[in-house]
Amino acid sequence: MGWPGQLHALNESQLPHRVRPYLNHAVSFKRPCSPQERIAALESVGLNVFFYPAELVSGCDLLSDSGTTAMTSAQWAALHLGDEAYGSNRGYFVVQAQVRETFGEEFFDQKPGQPANAFLFHQGRAAEDALFAQLGASSPGLIVPSNGHFDTTQANLEAHRIQPLNLFSPQLKEASSACHFKGDMDVHKLENLLEKHHPKIPLVYLTITNNTGGGQPVSMDNVSRVGALAHQFEIPLFLDACRFAENAYFIQRHEPGFAKRAIPEIVREMFSHADGFTISFKKDGLANMGGGLFVRRDGLFARKYPKLLDALTDYQIRKEGHPTYGGMSGRDILALAQGLKTVTEEPYLSYRVEQVASFGYAMAAQGLPVLTPFGGHAVYLDMNRFFADSPLQPADFGGVSFVALLLGAFGHRACELGHFAFGKYDTHAGKDVFPEVNFVRFAVPRLRYEQQDLQAVAEAAGALYQQRDRIPPVEVVWGRELPLRHFKARFRFRT
Ligand SMILES: *Cc1c(COP(=O)(O)O)cnc(C)c1O
Repeated sequence: MGWPGQLHALNESQLPHRVRPYLNHAVSFKRPCSPQERIAALESVGLNVFFYPAELVSGCDLLSDSGTTAMTSAQWAALHLGDEAYGSNRGYFVVQAQVRETFGEEFFDQKPGQPANAFLFHQGRAAEDALFAQLGASSPGLIVPSNGHFDTTQANLEAHRIQPLNLFSPQLKEASSACHFKGDMDVHKLENLLEKHHPKIPLVYLTITNNTGGGQPVSMDNVSRVGALAHQFEIPLFLDACRFAENAYFIQRHEPGFAKRAIPEIVREMFSHADGFTISFKKDGLANMGGGLFVRRDGLFARKYPKLLDALTDYQIRKEGHPTYGGMSGRDILALAQGLKTVTEEPYLSYRVEQVASFGYAMAAQGLPVLTPFGGHAVYLDMNRFFADSPLQPADFGGVSFVALLLGAFGHRACELGHFAFGKYDTHAGKDVFPEVNFVRFAVPRLRYEQQDLQAVAEAAGALYQQRDRIPPVEVVWGRELPLRHFKARFRFRT
């Protein structure tokens, strides 16, 4: 039986709104609260939104996309199948098979007679600490270049006396949205650095996608060039792979030659250039907990530092647990293994990235200065442009003030990642040092919010933008000179 008349041409692809590829399975109601209650709570924590009670976020909580995902029913089911054996729980074998399938067999290749090359940790940052603790102890004065180190990566490097260096793409600072891969590393700068300092560089790090650099993706071309250049100097390439699936999606959509390639295949190709990677499964593992460090069996890193794999195992046993569970419960291991299956599926991934983009367009429609093109996990407000016609100075930390007002007045929680988070106070010179990038980030947790929720955030941010000349400066009442200060500092409005 066919459709009558012309009706056969009707289908959902002609309509402006797209239906979500999933449905609500369980929901949580929020606790209603008034602006007065929120403002009192904010003042009681010194305007530091990290300390503000999540229960009082009556709008959207966009502080982070880390571990905040709503899990799928398949993940909840997997959680119940986890066992908590001390040695070689069931999940260990499941995650081993999944890591081999997703990233490549060489990254989890456990054989008797060889040191381990795959290490589970409770979070990404623990994996970073493990890696840099070993490298930092090997020789003094090392430098690790990146396309944009994440904040904990930078802090872990510094804690082990390794100098972090960001080689942002020159395109990142341009307002144009013509370039789709603003997360790339500046290859020219890398080449100069390697020529001058290669003996001091234990590895080159690429963050995919580039969270510190506006959540922008890295092209396959860049991964391959950076890898080739590093290898020319006998230096291994590592990936900070937290958002590997989102990065692969951007390559499929925008990089010539990839439109017809499947996401899992693109992921494999990205990792074929890497000698190892660290990852937080709280991102594209779609899990609430988990991290790992994986080294290519017989890759350049394993060959260059032959003693390091066993030293990593010792570190893991001392700090986290037996290598077959690392810092994780057997239940969480199964949830993340299941998450790795979902994350590369087209319906999940395209809706995820497109949802972030439509949130970005809603912000732009309010006249807000957003970084374009939109990245995979968040929309970034460029606070330099936001305050361009306002008397606020960088040391007034307008981004911190904006974030506090958005939460107090509207109940939405965002995150300052700019002059305060990435700046430093030089106690000797008695002055602030400001970073190149100055953003407020609205991270979108996976599978959690609907379009109307994000529309409400855009409208709230727009209302504050209309009144930007009335946004007051803040002063730092505690923690200005501390490392990782944005997590700890306290403020008050200066009126
Ligand atoms: C979240 C994140 C990390 C750290 O992972 P955790 O699991 O939060 O410790 C490292 N790098 C990037 C790019 C991240 O987004």
